[in-house]
Amino acid sequence: MPDMTIANKTFSNNSWQSILEEIKEEVAPLLSQGQVAAYIPELGRVDKNKFGMAVRLINGDLFEIGDSKTNFSVQSISKVFTLTKAFSILKDELWKRVGKEPSGNPFNSLIQLERENGKPRNPFINAGAIVVADCIANNYDDPLNYMIRFIRELADNKNLKLNVNVFQSEKKTGHRNAALAHFMKSYGNIQSEVGDVLDLYFGHCSLELNCVDLSNAFLYLANHGTHPISGKTYLSASQAKRLNALLLTCGTYDAAGDFAFKVGMPGKSGVGGGIAAIIPGLLSISVWSPGLDKHGNSLAGVKALELFTTKTGISIF
Ligand code: GLN
Repeated sequence: MPDMTIANKTFSNNSWQSILEEIKEEVAPLLSQGQVAAYIPELGRVDKNKFGMAVRLINGDLFEIGDSKTNFSVQSISKVFTLTKAFSILKDELWKRVGKEPSGNPFNSLIQLERENGKPRNPFINAGAIVVADCIANNYDDPLNYMIRFIRELADNKNLKLNVNVFQSEKKTGHRNAALAHFMKSYGNIQSEVGDVLDLYFGHCSLELNCVDLSNAFLYLANHGTHPISGKTYLSASQAKRLNALLLTCGTYDAAGDFAFKVGMPGKSGVGGGIAAIIPGLLSISVWSPGLDKHGNSLAGVKALELFTTKTGISIF
């Protein structure tokens, strides 16, 4: 591909690649410092020393480094795909059931829900994603398989599957999520059976993707809702703007301010150690490193994205 000039800098294939190489080297000392998400026992067994990254430009060019093709548990990053579906079905009716403000609380917090009458602050905290899962469960006979097919299409990978051990592990130990769902049902904000909604929620969180899959799957958000390569539209430009705004303000939970400050991209993290982010009109980027910080975001992953926007000089600002 020809060189491209962005923000007064010229990028060749070699320069994208050498930026990724520098980042991999610079984050190496951080890999051992994070904590894996042992509250989901199966995730507690993942090797902390993994690190992968992939960048997909909207012209289709791909740059990758490290364990970019190793599958990992996508966890909360999948909330972006369920939100995309629910938003495209329900349009602005969705916001009657889930808010659009940062929560300032941990992703699995219960406390705000009672004060706010069972309406979660935003679709990316667990309570919000459970409401979104309910919206999908109400619209499809086999919602989990429907979502798996949808995510396979976005990622352009027919082999994506859920990890049954992670699914069982979440189902067995996800008492806080069950509490959130029952509590919201008491306010009428969950319509399907709680067990069915949780199966969908745990199911989509247990999907395994790699960095290349994720950077493919986020590309429509970097291109106003339409996948630039397949040409398929998943959200209108206005909806994509709104979803990206939510990623920036709520995608990394109670660290979203810090993430925006350091990284300057809308992004979504998961406790499997993945983060996917985008720059509208330009690229999607994903990173994986399983060790987490105290907010549940990948420690080396956040640093890697910060280094990417610093070294390239490209961010949304
Ligand atoms: N499945 C995880 C949970 O419900 C998702 C959390 C996350 O990735 N932040 O706790």
